[in-house]
Amino acid sequence: MQMNKNGQTVLERRYLIKDEHGQNIETVEGLFRRVADAIAGADTLFDKKADVRALSDQFYDLMTNLEFLPNSPTLMNAGRPLGQLSACFVLPIEDSMEEIFETVKNAALIHKSGGGTGFSFSRLRSAGSTVKTTGGVASGPVSFMRVFNMATEAVKQGGTRRGANMGILRVDHPDILDFIDCKKNNADITNFNISVGITEDFMKAVELGIDYDLVDPHTKEVVGQLSAKEVFDKIVEAAWRNGEPGIIFLDRLNRDNVVPSQGEIESTNPCGEQPLLPFESCNLGSINLCQMLKETDGGWELDYDKLDRTVGLAIHFLDNVIEVNKYPLPIIDEVTKSTRKIGLGVMGFADMLARLGLSYNSDEGVEVGEKVMDFITTRAKAYSQELAKTRGAFPLFAESIFKDEAPLRNATCTTIAPTGTLSIIAGCSSGVEPVFAYVFIRNVMDNTEMIEVNPILRETLEKRGLYSDELMRKIAKEGTLAHIDEIPEDIKKVFVCSHDISPTYHVKMQAAFQRHTDNAVSKTVNFTHDATTLDVREVYMLAYRLDCKGVTIYRDGSRDSQVLNIGSVK
Ligand code: UDP
Repeated sequence: MQMNKNGQTVLERRYLIKDEHGQNIETVEGLFRRVADAIAGADTLFDKKADVRALSDQFYDLMTNLEFLPNSPTLMNAGRPLGQLSACFVLPIEDSMEEIFETVKNAALIHKSGGGTGFSFSRLRSAGSTVKTTGGVASGPVSFMRVFNMATEAVKQGGTRRGANMGILRVDHPDILDFIDCKKNNADITNFNISVGITEDFMKAVELGIDYDLVDPHTKEVVGQLSAKEVFDKIVEAAWRNGEPGIIFLDRLNRDNVVPSQGEIESTNPCGEQPLLPFESCNLGSINLCQMLKETDGGWELDYDKLDRTVGLAIHFLDNVIEVNKYPLPIIDEVTKSTRKIGLGVMGFADMLARLGLSYNSDEGVEVGEKVMDFITTRAKAYSQELAKTRGAFPLFAESIFKDEAPLRNATCTTIAPTGTLSIIAGCSSGVEPVFAYVFIRNVMDNTEMIEVNPILRETLEKRGLYSDELMRKIAKEGTLAHIDEIPEDIKKVFVCSHDISPTYHVKMQAAFQRHTDNAVSKTVNFTHDATTLDVREVYMLAYRLDCKGVTIYRDGSRDSQVLNIGSVK
């Protein structure tokens, strides 16, 4: 296997099966064989004579060649007693003590199994309204978010990572102003990402500069009005301050709700890429685009035949996951199997562009993104239709927006996940994000330095006789290649990192992928530290105009501790 050291380390520390003393009792190859066997086994449910061994070999090769990886819970739990394989869940929060705490419990069970949960808090009555049974005063959505946050704090996901949550509040909820500021202090509600659920009516009011209505979640009566522009500016200011809240466009999630008869989509999973109905779950998987290239006499190009074959196997894999998955609750089993949503996405996109000699921040780069994702979703649908011929359409197909088309096995096929861990395992850039930094200097234990260089940059510089440790140190220190005189312009143009790219291009790329993704796109728009609230506002408006389903921004240095730092040691 061609796995780099970081990938190996992540698997050894967190994914391989351990004995009671914490010693690994599985090899990396063993992990992939365990997963391949467990997932291929589902074929016998549809065909007693299926050649499971041959399929397992295909899945094994797919994963060990780092061409496709399923989301972390599948790698951790497939073929093991727990058997919970999905990364994404949405749970309902109804407005009663029993139901709120039932959901706290269910979320804890999901976190324990490695999944992340999203919730809409919009049904909860506002702070200060009366509680009938006691005559007391309700504490409101934000105070219950703190309860969920504390519960999450106590439960580690499968003992390997802390639980992740998404909290959403509709912009017309009377407590919206409290919600916007609830993460003002960086130490607060840390196990949640939060997003304001924006409506089209609200956006129209922003554009017209008029007030909009606040609605009581129970009586649906109008209980107040706020200036849309002022609320929008507050959201922008808070996001500028420390990256939260993000926004999601609720009406767009519901425009693309494939089975409207099942009710409204009110929330997404923690990182925002997977809108789901209450009690619905979804398993994800990502194709490493770097492995979908071929070298020809004229240079590198995308190998569409290989990509096509990979999409076919990946769809088969993800559909099988639904069968062998052990769901945390019977109702999640039932709801998930009624639509059979899966989320195939990509990673290594920025690395692929560099290989092709294209800049992320160019119209050509954006066009390639759009073309690749169009191809993947079109082929994914075709393969899901193929599966439907032998396995049947998803049970709610006749009620879905696709009812007049050829039957589909899966209500949705594509999603762009962040691939936070998968991209480390595969040794490529994450999701559709640009490369954050091409060179890192790592301090190893005995205080010696280890230089980590993006392999495509290393190869490019070596070919031109430009590679040296000294130059790498310089790039690591600067964080970008942009201002280093020794590096030729054509290389600088291609090896752009997150902060060389204008927020506008970040959004353009997100929109290009969104146009051809069934679900949503996980993407963070990076700003430099000196960006203004006006810059952030423009990006929010651009994302709205370009039909994105949401936006998340991050301004460098706006939190004391951030995951990635420019020009510093990892
Ligand atoms: N997720 C989670 N906890 C984490 C990271 C991710 O629950 O610490 C869930 C969450 O729903 C997220 C999804 O997994 O949206 C996909 O995240 P990512 O692609 O980064 O996960 P990976 O499969 O790479 O571990």
